[in-house]
Amino acid sequence: MIVREVYTKSILSRSKVFDYVVNPYIGCEHACTYCYARFMKRFTGHREPWGEFVDVKINAPDLLKREIDRTPPGRVWVSGVCDPYQPLERTYKVTKTCLEILVEHDWPITIQTKSALVLRDVALFAGSNKIEVGLTVTTGDERVRELFEPNAASIKERIKALEKLHLAGTRTYVMIAPMLPQAEELAASLREKVDYVLIDRMNYHYADWVYRKHNLESTMGDDIFSLKAKELASAFGTQGIECRLLF
Ligand code: SF4
Repeated sequence: MIVREVYTKSILSRSKVFDYVVNPYIGCEHACTYCYARFMKRFTGHREPWGEFVDVKINAPDLLKREIDRTPPGRVWVSGVCDPYQPLERTYKVTKTCLEILVEHDWPITIQTKSALVLRDVALFAGSNKIEVGLTVTTGDERVRELFEPNAASIKERIKALEKLHLAGTRTYVMIAPMLPQAEELAASLREKVDYVLIDRMNYHYADWVYRKHNLESTMGDDIFSLKAKELASAFGTQGIECRLLF
């Protein structure tokens, strides 16, 4: 893993998903096979494979302090093209320091991660109805998870993190995106751990080789995806969990 400390020019960016996005890192140690964020390499000039480099934006908190004072408030997505709680965050705490600034200014925040490290910051979220924390969980089968997300936390760890956050009074959601084979097994395991569920499709562009290599072709394609997503949404509905399809 090649880690560089870098100085970025700005940190609070406009987003199409929420009002703003903050990406404390460039690159992601989780190296998910389907990760769309690898498109970033076209702009950053990194030659290493996706997952083998991370730039740490060490001046992000200083920039955020300045930018937040001259920007109209809005919901901030943390993060869009990296995992804000990837392992390096344990050392660098760039995400945590940025979140502290956003909380201090009372801005709404949507956190999205695959890491239980988010629990470290649970005290920051306590008592806020403007902060929501989402864990991405794409399948209910640990073998499938290992094929597609080899460096990320286990399914069990992520669901446990959701449960702890929810019990602590934080608004939580699960992002089933991309929906992978055996995602239907998740329906029974998220009860009383999440406020809502989001489901999105797989972009086969990057990860179709994983399906082929592991004889999973019968589980890919638009038809099977639509069918499984609707079944899963219905299963959550039966449990009284709000579920939104994003495709
Ligand atoms: S955790 Fe998210 S940003 Fe990181 S590699 Fe996986 S999909 Fe990409």
